[in-house]
Amino acid sequence: MKRELEYYLQQRRKMLAMQYADFVIGWDMQTDAAENSIIANSEQSAALSEMQYNMTTDPKFEKSVAVLYENRAKLDEVLRHEIEEMYKNIANTKKIPIEEYTAYSELVSKAYPIYVRAKNENNFELFRPYLEKIVDFCRKQTVWLATDGLKGYDVLLDMYEPHYTQAKYDEFFNLLRDRLVPFVKQKTQVPTAVPQWAKQKFDKEKQREFCEYLRDVMCFDKTRGIMKESEHPFTSGFGTDDVRITNHYYEDSLASSIFSAIHETGHATYEQQCDKSLNGTFSGGGASLGMHESQSRFYENVIGRSKAFWAVHYPKLQKLFRKELKDVSLDEFVAYINRAERSFVRTEADELTYPLHVMLRYEIEKKVISGELEVKDLPAYWNEKFTEYFGITPPTDTLGVLQDVHWAYGNFGYFPTYALGSAIASQLFHRMNEDFDVEASLAEGNTKRINEWLKEHVHKYGSSKYPDEILRLATGGEDFNPNYYVDYLINKYSK
Ligand code: ZN
Repeated sequence: MKRELEYYLQQRRKMLAMQYADFVIGWDMQTDAAENSIIANSEQSAALSEMQYNMTTDPKFEKSVAVLYENRAKLDEVLRHEIEEMYKNIANTKKIPIEEYTAYSELVSKAYPIYVRAKNENNFELFRPYLEKIVDFCRKQTVWLATDGLKGYDVLLDMYEPHYTQAKYDEFFNLLRDRLVPFVKQKTQVPTAVPQWAKQKFDKEKQREFCEYLRDVMCFDKTRGIMKESEHPFTSGFGTDDVRITNHYYEDSLASSIFSAIHETGHATYEQQCDKSLNGTFSGGGASLGMHESQSRFYENVIGRSKAFWAVHYPKLQKLFRKELKDVSLDEFVAYINRAERSFVRTEADELTYPLHVMLRYEIEKKVISGELEVKDLPAYWNEKFTEYFGITPPTDTLGVLQDVHWAYGNFGYFPTYALGSAIASQLFHRMNEDFDVEASLAEGNTKRINEWLKEHVHKYGSSKYPDEILRLATGGEDFNPNYYVDYLINKYSK
């Protein structure tokens, strides 16, 4: 076993180096690289992925993992979890016939530009044959990767959020359908107009300055990370000491860059606060997509849209935009950033209506993967369900079934994690308030106390435990409970 452990650690070091190279290339392509350099560089990225795949499936590496897996009782807790995950991943990779996998990778790379065209031209029929093949592969995947405990759609859900199955999600979304749909309909019946002041132009340079200020408020360690610009804001990183975020600035939308900055810095705080001992292992970074999103949304919505937060930082914003915000009171500003309205596009939805967009996709995916709903019937079904939940009907497929890119990538099972993140954020907020008055702590001018609590109860574990396990540890033994989330939303939007 000693020899196997040595070999595993030696290979892991090389794999991480390749992951790092891939991360830097990816970052560069999305931030600095010129348009035509991107095409040239993507080949290097593809070669690196291939090398990583070969290393993971190499018989010698596989043997070392198998031996360590058999002797896992002797390993420390962190390495044991890592080996169990690696063992499962290798086994799953081998269950997918290689010809099918190769054909599928090609299909997905061809499907993406077709999807973009179909969306731009409002032409679902153009994308339909590709999506049918993608769905076909995903359905087959649920057969190849089925286990005693996981069947059907559960197989796909588990890939994105381990241990969160349809039984759990059904309970969550049924609660949203019963309690939130009627509440949202009532709250959004009369559309609220965008106030005149918000339609002004806001200088991008000043927005940048304010977002830099926000990074300090959130105690982002600038010696271990940077912020740049990209078309869509994102966070990426490698270990705790190289965490990078991006933002995007629009002259006609002040709120956009502010909340992107808070959201991405939330992701970054999670990465920066993992235990340093996890650097150089596969157990660093966030525990899952849902857990990561719970952190970004906690900072963005629970903290970043609260009056307590803006009571401290609004004067700074007002000083920067002296002319534009001269006659806008704190209450008016807070009301503006918490408006709720019926809208077609998920990524532009407000905090209240957002989870209903995710619920719609969950219900559709469930039916598609089980074979109850066919791809050709998707646009009509989408519009029917959308009307039922929101009381408005998408005028085009561009604003309906074609709006998100995930299905073009074959990412069935991904969407539910977006709503799960918000729900976990509320549950953590509830628990945190039992330890200290969270909103009152904001009077100190930064999120230091909040960061410390999250580090101790969530961040330090990195991905060395499953997300449901971390949630139980953080809440003193509680399982996922979506009631906190619905209570939080109804309470907030009833005011
Ligand atoms: Zn996010």
